[in-house]
Amino acid sequence: MQDREKKPLVIALDGPAASGKGTLAQLIAKQYGFAHLDTGALYRGVAAVILEAGGDPNNAEKAAVFARDFSIDQIENLNIRTKEVGAAASIVAANSEVRAALLDFQRRFAAAPPGGAKGAVLDGRDIGTVVCPDATVKFFVTASPEARAGRRWRELKVANPDLEETAVYKDLLERDARDAARADAPMVAADDAELLDTTHLSIDAAFAAARRVIDGVFRRCG
Ligand code: C5P
Repeated sequence: MQDREKKPLVIALDGPAASGKGTLAQLIAKQYGFAHLDTGALYRGVAAVILEAGGDPNNAEKAAVFARDFSIDQIENLNIRTKEVGAAASIVAANSEVRAALLDFQRRFAAAPPGGAKGAVLDGRDIGTVVCPDATVKFFVTASPEARAGRRWRELKVANPDLEETAVYKDLLERDARDAARADAPMVAADDAELLDTTHLSIDAAFAAARRVIDGVFRRCG
């Protein structure tokens, strides 16, 4: 019983690219004073290191070596928010050895959130299904592909004004398909996840909806 009480609370947010899960995860972490881990940044980090070294993300053996050597501290020196890195991340993420190399770090983050926080928020594709199947609250955040492509395009075109929205849309669909079709830890809603469709929701409205669910669960947990 005591052990149960001491266990950190974990909020899992999974869903496709640009669904809003990352922004929601940040807001939720701030609201409840929890630590936040953007797990996509780990896959992006590994992909960025491979690209920087002139490597091929499709080379499974080498990608696994890069993943085993990877540390989260490397992320601050890498440009991980590009379209190319996003695409390469979803290639390395289909590699089981890469996933295995990154799993332990994610689970430790959830089990012992940094800074002594009493809970952790993790966002990604397989948090509720593989990384933290016992998470206290799980969300699967979605939005229409058109809405997601529009959001991602507006973010990316700041650094790349010539970028076409249709190119972003195509990349996003390819990435979704790869993430959903891979054999290991595919992107799928956990059976006990709360579905949150943000297509027609402002971020404030999505956050309010998420908070209602979380507060309800926390009340029931005591
Ligand atoms: O969320 P983000 O777009 O930054 O993730 C980049 C890629 O990392 C995703 O397309 C997916 O292939 C991979 N990923 C994953 N599992 C996670 C988080 C991200 O496979 N938990």
